[in-house]
Amino acid sequence: MITLENVSKAYGQHVALASTTLAFAARRTTALIGPSGCGKSTLLRLIVGLIRPNSGRVLVDGEALGRDNLNRVRHRIGYVIQDGGLFPHLTAGQNVMLLARHLQRPAEWISSRVRQLVDLMRMPAGLLERFPGDLSGGQRQRVSLMRALMLDPPILLMDEPFGALDPITRFELQEELKRIFAELHKTVVLVTHDMNEAAHFGDSIVLLREGRVVQAGTLEDLLRRPAEDYVRDFVRAQRTTLPPEAQ
Ligand code: ADP
Ligand code: MG
Repeated sequence: MITLENVSKAYGQHVALASTTLAFAARRTTALIGPSGCGKSTLLRLIVGLIRPNSGRVLVDGEALGRDNLNRVRHRIGYVIQDGGLFPHLTAGQNVMLLARHLQRPAEWISSRVRQLVDLMRMPAGLLERFPGDLSGGQRQRVSLMRALMLDPPILLMDEPFGALDPITRFELQEELKRIFAELHKTVVLVTHDMNEAAHFGDSIVLLREGRVVQAGTLEDLLRRPAEDYVRDFVRAQRTTLPPEAQ
């Protein structure tokens, strides 16, 4: 479980996240949605401890994030960003193994964990020998996910992980990830600005606007019991332009 207690973050005069109290359920997927600039990435960065809040505190499984426990808590969190964030000068496999090697996990443990992840991701093993620049966007994101899962963290944070992919790759990876999330039972927070994606993944959905939570609930709650007109407007703005028979 991830909890934010009165957490706020400003950059100079600009409030990126107004004082927010929010809980992300354990072993469930929460989609964090909202228009560009509403504070989604800021919220994720606060949870992973890349930035510090101006007020309030972030608790991960009841433990408040602070300077002394940051590294330890961070190892319990896998974090995937839009372009994958792989190191270009390391092979895919070296990227995946980097942290475990840094933490001096035994070589046998590392290779057996990589084999598990290769199976989980249905990844052709040869791909791990390649450099990120020699992988497709979809393959890079699979490698990023493997890297994030290497230490088998209970929490997985994903910041628009499909944002840079073409529609077919995107669709395939969405399907694949849904299967993987169901298998792994992790606490997942997935950032998106796409309502369909939020509906596809989210056991619950948190809608942000201009640094504050407009509504947190199920898709059904947002559709049938919108907390504000903005919820309705946001949903309507995302309607598909295709006729129903084509969907
Ligand atoms: P989102 O991920 O929803 O698109 P962000 O969380 O990245 O939004 O940004 C929220 C707001 O905070 C935006 O207005 C953005 O310009 C601002 N912001 C984010 N990071 C910084 C930063 N390092 N310095 C100044 N402003 C920032
Ligand atoms: Mg963002």
